[in-house]
Amino acid sequence: MDEYIKQSIDSRKSAMSATYEIDEKTGEKMDIWEKMYEMAKAEYHPEKVSPFIIAHHVVAAIESAKTGEIYTGFCIEGASGVMDLCAERVAGLKMYAAEGNTEVRRLIAFRDKPPMGNGGSPCGACREFFMQLDYKNRDMEILTDFKTRKTVKLKEMIPNWWGDKRYAEAKNTEVA
Ligand SMILES: [Zn+2]
Repeated sequence: MDEYIKQSIDSRKSAMSATYEIDEKTGEKMDIWEKMYEMAKAEYHPEKVSPFIIAHHVVAAIESAKTGEIYTGFCIEGASGVMDLCAERVAGLKMYAAEGNTEVRRLIAFRDKPPMGNGGSPCGACREFFMQLDYKNRDMEILTDFKTRKTVKLKEMIPNWWGDKRYAEAKNTEVA
């Protein structure tokens, strides 16, 4: 086969595999949101970690913009609010620990059911965390309705964000 054609087929295949996965149980194609949902759902098993701490009652998955890897997270809440960590932030920290990457392409978060209607919104602390973590995270797609695959960008959830001036001043930071 012509090398150019072979390369273009290979690159199309890898683009496809970035978007679709085959479900091992059904053999059906899964889009990226379904894959992220299934991976996060596996984290949903609310439990007491100790008499003070509960975990795994809210779950999340994020897709790394750098590698396309998916990282899951679960929320963990103690008897002092300051210790609480949301599922989204745990997933973000796992990504950073594994890759040193700070840029997220997609996020899904939910309890026992996928986001519906206008669901799946991260809390204010998580919005702020991802805005501070990487300039490009403002374009992160957040799934708000699983059925229709409706998404909202992080910047739409946190308008007039306070930190743009610091990003603009920081060296080595692209500012669009
Ligand atoms: Zn949060």
